[in-house]
Amino acid sequence: MPTDNPTAVRLLIVEDSEADYLLIQRQLRTEGMVFESLRVDHFDAVDKALEQPWDVILYDYEIPGLDFDDALPLIKSRATDTPIILVSGTVDERMAAGLLRQGLDDFVLKDKLLRLSTAIDRVRRERLERSGRLAAEAELRKLAMVVEQSPASILITDTRPAIEYVNDAFVQNTGYEPEEVIGRNPSVLNTGNTPASTYRALWSALNQGQTWRGEFYNTRKDGSVYVEAAVVAPIRQVDGSISHYVAIKDDITAQRESEALIHRLAFYDQLTGLANRSLLMERLDQAMNKCRKAGQQGAVLMLDIDSFRFINDIHGYDIGDHVLREFGRRLQRELADTDTVARIGGNHFAVIVERLGATEAEVTDRIKQLTTRLHERVQQPCNLPDGSGQLRHATSMGICLFDGHEEGPETPLNRAELALQKAKDDGRNMARQFSHELKVQVEERALMEARLRSAVINRELDMHLQSQFDIEGRLLGAELLLRWPQADGSFISPMVFIPLAEVTGLILPIGQQVFDQAIKLLQDWQSKPATRSLQLSINVSARQFHQPDFVDQLRTRLQKSTIDGSRLVLELTESVVLDEFGSTGEKMRAIRELGVGIALDDFGKGYSSLSYLKHLPFDVLKIDRSFIADMLASPSSEAIVRAILAMGHALKMHIIAEGVENEAQWDLLRRERCAGYQGYLFARPVGMDQWQPGDFSANGSPSAQVNRKE
Ligand code: C2E
Ligand code: CA
Ligand code: CA
Repeated sequence: MPTDNPTAVRLLIVEDSEADYLLIQRQLRTEGMVFESLRVDHFDAVDKALEQPWDVILYDYEIPGLDFDDALPLIKSRATDTPIILVSGTVDERMAAGLLRQGLDDFVLKDKLLRLSTAIDRVRRERLERSGRLAAEAELRKLAMVVEQSPASILITDTRPAIEYVNDAFVQNTGYEPEEVIGRNPSVLNTGNTPASTYRALWSALNQGQTWRGEFYNTRKDGSVYVEAAVVAPIRQVDGSISHYVAIKDDITAQRESEALIHRLAFYDQLTGLANRSLLMERLDQAMNKCRKAGQQGAVLMLDIDSFRFINDIHGYDIGDHVLREFGRRLQRELADTDTVARIGGNHFAVIVERLGATEAEVTDRIKQLTTRLHERVQQPCNLPDGSGQLRHATSMGICLFDGHEEGPETPLNRAELALQKAKDDGRNMARQFSHELKVQVEERALMEARLRSAVINRELDMHLQSQFDIEGRLLGAELLLRWPQADGSFISPMVFIPLAEVTGLILPIGQQVFDQAIKLLQDWQSKPATRSLQLSINVSARQFHQPDFVDQLRTRLQKSTIDGSRLVLELTESVVLDEFGSTGEKMRAIRELGVGIALDDFGKGYSSLSYLKHLPFDVLKIDRSFIADMLASPSSEAIVRAILAMGHALKMHIIAEGVENEAQWDLLRRERCAGYQGYLFARPVGMDQWQPGDFSANGSPSAQVNRKE
């Protein structure tokens, strides 16, 4: 029976003769073989023995009751790889040849047992070699499958290099069938997109027997270009010589495309294609470094398209987008390629200009030239994409110079932003350069804005009334004027805070409050006989008037109240009309339909075009107080006042002279039959509680007296 000696050769000996068995054992021992053996002599024993593994089976051909022809298939099926040696006294050579064909590995005649150990060694060696070879083949088969089915493109060339093999992935990816590329140079895939330096690096590595990693920009059969990450390695023979090259390649086109997209999204503005804020910061940082090293100055400019909101509101977002793109293009055209133009959000743009010069004077001069050029270029009318007309817009600019010694790119950028703020505060369409005084001014203004905001929210603005009289001195009504009371008991003038409210948009809630107050006051007036027929004038800013729902709001307010619309007069300035002619007329007519009157305020102060007086339905004209003030001293002012009065009469307009401060002015205006009067001579604006209705007479009526001392 076999033991556990791992080096022993395990022999199963099918032999009916005990004597022969001993003979075989003795022979093998004399040969020095270490073995373990088991003798079996009938079919069932053979069957049982085959449950264990054997190195070699020795078989005596002639065993009564155990037919070799039956036993051989059994042995072959149960011990596939176990060699069988026939040990027999009778087999002739011819018969043996037949048996060998049936799967027998060798035969030894009993009288030639000397051969047995050699035969055992030989069949065992052959067996081992065979299984080794099988394993190697299986290994190769496995490898081939990996190569065939690999998701990576695999290409094998000889050393010329001509393609010898391509796998399925290659076929899928390139669109070339194997027969179209085999025998050809892999450069069939390259149509000039891969830089020559890549190939130099590739061959230099391969010639040194090294593996190369890199990227190819190759072309598919259909002409489309793709990017491959490749590993190319030489294949060596046993003797060390290179026989082949193998390239394993991954298509990374999609990955590259998404990387490029991510890069574009991360650093470029999608609408204009300009740099975005991140890229601007990066470039500014680089520009600062360069300036520091070169001892030069650069500048960062921040630009806003003035009143851009209106472009969007009035013309829609498509036109707004068009204007933004065009604005970006114009900036780019005026600047060098090395300068950076960025859109950093909304209608905010920024520009970096490098190396403007070394001295402050030189730089300031060049900046002035640049901003003038930009202003001119930007103001040129811009054609609307649908051919429906042209748009013009102005721009405000904030400038900050830098020499690279600032803390970081945020510093010059924030300063430019501050300067831009100042340009806007000062009335837009201008450029301002950062300085420390400018910073103080902007901060003060920001503080004031915050205080105004809270005053509006807390309804702290006061309303004063200034009486208006007719030519006989009879009370016509009053104008409502705002005051901003301060903690120390003083007031801030609306001349100061109204412009601020207009830029910040606070004028809208302020306007609501004025309307609320006006309606309340008129309601009160209507309930008393003394005030029932008075008119109340209120001031309306362009920004309020251009609210799309301005007329609707007014209508709703009037409908909710019981007041007579004709008791209310809206005072508009020329700026309302100048902004936008077309829809202004419609709006005004809609207001007049509500019975509400419209006055043109400050007439004579601005352009004073007569054309809109004729075309727009004003019913009151207020002569600006600067003309009244100059009237007596300046003949031309007097002529203008006379002309306005004559024209007003002709157009059947009610004319009110503003700022009448003395009797001489009053006399002159009365002689010219001016219908209405407002001014310190008659009444100063007073708090609503102090205001009292009363006619004016030169010797002074008691009620007018009250109003005269503000
Ligand atoms: P305005 O509409 O032209 O108002 C008349 C201004 O002239 C008032 O100044 C008034 O106090 C002043 N005034 C009246 N009589 C005389 C006079 O005889 N001599 C002189 N030197 N001045 C006189 P105020 O109240 O400071 O208002 C200034 C401007 O603020 C107003 O000019 C108006 O444009 C604006 N404003 C006032 N209240 C409002 C408001 O509720 N809404 C809007 N949008 N603007 C307002
Ligand atoms: Ca007014
Ligand atoms: Ca006025």
